[in-house]
Amino acid sequence: MAQRPIISFLLGAALLATHAAAEQPASTVHPTAQRLTPRSGDTATLRSEHFVIQYDPAYLTAEQVEEARKVAEAGWRHCAGRFGIEGPAQIVLDLSPDFLGATGFAVPAEANPRGGRQQEARIGVRYGDLDYLGLPAPYVITHEIAHLFSGSLGGSALGEGIADWGAGGFAGVPMAHWWGRALRQGDLWIDPEALFLSGEFAPAPEVNEVIRTARYAESGLLVFYLVERFGWERTRRFAEEYDRLRGPLESNEDRRRRFAERPRNPSRRTAPPAIPSAAAIRTLIEQRLGVAWDTLREDWERRMGETPMPAEASARLVLAQQIYGAIRNYEMWLIEQRAGPSATTRTVVREAFTAANAALARGDFQEAGRALSRARRIVGYLRNPPLTT
Ligand SMILES: [Zn+2]
Repeated sequence: MAQRPIISFLLGAALLATHAAAEQPASTVHPTAQRLTPRSGDTATLRSEHFVIQYDPAYLTAEQVEEARKVAEAGWRHCAGRFGIEGPAQIVLDLSPDFLGATGFAVPAEANPRGGRQQEARIGVRYGDLDYLGLPAPYVITHEIAHLFSGSLGGSALGEGIADWGAGGFAGVPMAHWWGRALRQGDLWIDPEALFLSGEFAPAPEVNEVIRTARYAESGLLVFYLVERFGWERTRRFAEEYDRLRGPLESNEDRRRRFAERPRNPSRRTAPPAIPSAAAIRTLIEQRLGVAWDTLREDWERRMGETPMPAEASARLVLAQQIYGAIRNYEMWLIEQRAGPSATTRTVVREAFTAANAALARGDFQEAGRALSRARRIVGYLRNPPLTT
């Protein structure tokens, strides 16, 4: 399977600014970029069966690294079962990458843009930040490993969904059809017709909890359903063709704006990005999956409606998506600030989000909700300081 030449996919649906982003096919380009700066501290290395683990011993203890090693090996085996293939024999796992705006990233083995020696497959996870980010290590690490197992689909339209399906859960809640109902009730749902076919839905100029949940969880649920009904191999082939018709799971308005704001190379004429053709996607679904989209969607929604929805797990899922979406939104804003808030202020925000996630982890949803509101208020204040006259 041909790999795209340069793909950097982040858990945050964004690309690393370190590569020639402008040269990438449209579907691997996301609107925002993180800075990945070279690490300044020491690097220690731990080897295991499938991973070369790199970390900064000033930030992580030997116990934490050993725990990460176990999680990574379990994630590798989980993905081998899910995808039915042997994945990369060796993956570099960076546990102390320095970036904001996402929690992890994955770069496939053939991604060396300068030619020469082939780079090893690499994933990175902000392992020391997970209490603040609120994501369990098995989810993040397995999600990134799943990107590598999904090969060229990693940066495709359903790429984040495939990686979330590969990870198999979120916030410790195993993926299930009832997620669709819970997310819809929690206002974290985009109408599937709009998200997957037409692109006609409300724009999200900034990453927010709705678009983040749609690109990952809702897309993951579609993959979950397709694999259950058609198997992974057929779903994989469909996802490749679907990507060419749909492009990134963004609204048409966001796509037009992203194109308009893109830095131009005057020597190259670039056509505006295509707005997805819902009719063409319907035809593709019918041809490749042998069923009309309306019938497929009805059956999918029936399964979402029929599966019993456990109250505690659904509350946890929705809150976890809300908190993480709010953190993503805050960090993406942070990256764009030339002179951002002071280190002290950042610590205050970090503590507020950490408190929300700690309450969520111990099952105190009321306190988690309160702490999230507090964190949002602080961020709101930073973004729009009240005027003093
Ligand atoms: Zn991802």
